[in-house]
Amino acid sequence: MDFEKYDVVIIGGGPAGCIAGEHIKHHNVLIIEEHQSIGAPLQCAGLISKKGVKELGNPKGIVNKIKGAYIYSKNNTLKIGDDDEIRAYVFERKVMDKDIAIRASKKADFLLKAYGRLIDNNLNKKKNLLNFKTFSKNRDLKYRLSIHHLGETYTICPKVIIGADGARSNIGKSAGLSINREILSGAQLEMVNVNIDDDFVYVFFDRTFCKDFFIWIIPMGKDRVRVGLCNSSNTYKKLLNFINNHPIASKILKNAVPVEFSVGTLPIGYLKTTVKNNLMLVGDAAGQVKPLSGGGLYYGAKCAKICGKIIDEYLANNYGLSYLKNYDKLWKKDIGNEIKAGLRFRTLIKKMDDKKIDKLLEFIIKNNLVEHITKKGDMDNPSIILKDLFKKFLN
Ligand SMILES: Cc1cc2nc3c(=O)[nH]c(=O)nc-3n(C[C@H](O)[C@H](O)[C@H](O)COP(=O)(O)OP(=O)(O)OC[C@H]3O[C@@H](n4cnc5c(N)ncnc54)[C@H](O)[C@@H]3O)c2cc1C
Repeated sequence: MDFEKYDVVIIGGGPAGCIAGEHIKHHNVLIIEEHQSIGAPLQCAGLISKKGVKELGNPKGIVNKIKGAYIYSKNNTLKIGDDDEIRAYVFERKVMDKDIAIRASKKADFLLKAYGRLIDNNLNKKKNLLNFKTFSKNRDLKYRLSIHHLGETYTICPKVIIGADGARSNIGKSAGLSINREILSGAQLEMVNVNIDDDFVYVFFDRTFCKDFFIWIIPMGKDRVRVGLCNSSNTYKKLLNFINNHPIASKILKNAVPVEFSVGTLPIGYLKTTVKNNLMLVGDAAGQVKPLSGGGLYYGAKCAKICGKIIDEYLANNYGLSYLKNYDKLWKKDIGNEIKAGLRFRTLIKKMDDKKIDKLLEFIIKNNLVEHITKKGDMDNPSIILKDLFKKFLN
């Protein structure tokens, strides 16, 4: 393979990597994916807002339409949304990711079953340690990549590298960027034979079953659901405990049969810097994720487009490397405040025990706020309604 012809190499063939590739319109792009198939293994519940679907370019793979949510605390229930408006869609991620990749293939080449590693030219090769003298002299030395493919290793020097390698981003770690953020593990089962209201997702806040996040049942239509949770540890055990012992869920799921198990990782908190030298991070690798729901597809798509556009401008105009830093500024201008607000609310909600969560739901019911939340709530910018709600609740 002629690696030298590529101006940009993207590590990771997920939605963020593919959308970034799709938006580098005038230069040669290669997308490297370690797995044998785009979109597999599944690591997602596949719930995407209407705005998110548009941002992702209306991909294929919709299996259900969602009009709202039932929210459960230990002793209370809310029904947010109404039968009139579709608010989100449930996707088969394998279909969606492949469709986005097919679009990207009009602009980018793909190499599957290939693994990318970052090589830091400032590292002292013998000791594999940062040599500070070399570093300060050659601050502008670009990163290179080593690509492992079919038993061979290739070293390549693209003009720009994108790390779109997901939540655990080894590319980001190698550059010293992906540090100090909360990482949650997710476990999920797709189950069939479930009789459920297909138009609404079910969200459970119950510290006995899930201490660090929430649990979801997402209807996929035709008696299929995804049941999952995220937590800091023991997620699969916790999920089985929920399915078997939660007073409401165990009834809903009493005849359910599992047909697919998946695990995944959620990064909570974005990176201070997502550009270093000729390296840019995008999607989960950059922490472009909603801290309150873990949804990363909408933000990832938005930022991938910005990333692609900046690279195109950089390469077309022969700008200095510092031009790439505009990506950092632009995506934070767009979604940085919402992520920051989400992180503050996450800290607040994490401190709430089951009694407090019960009280919050009770407060919403007693003060007839359900309609207000239905009208003003926005799953992509939840901080607006939460600010309003907590102001009333805490006063
Ligand atoms: C349990 C769970 C449920 C979720 N539910 C939702 C939801 O309902 N809605 C929503 O919006 N978001 C959801 N998310 C988040 C969503 O899945 C991610 O935000 C999204 O997949 C991020 O896209 P990405 O392209 O950045 O990364 P990924 O989709 O993770 O893609 C990264 C790709 O890089 C590849 N890769 C990694 N390292 C290398 C390497 N060194 N070399 C080559 N290839 C490499 C991987 O194989 C992978 O294909 C969920 C996440 C989890 C864990």
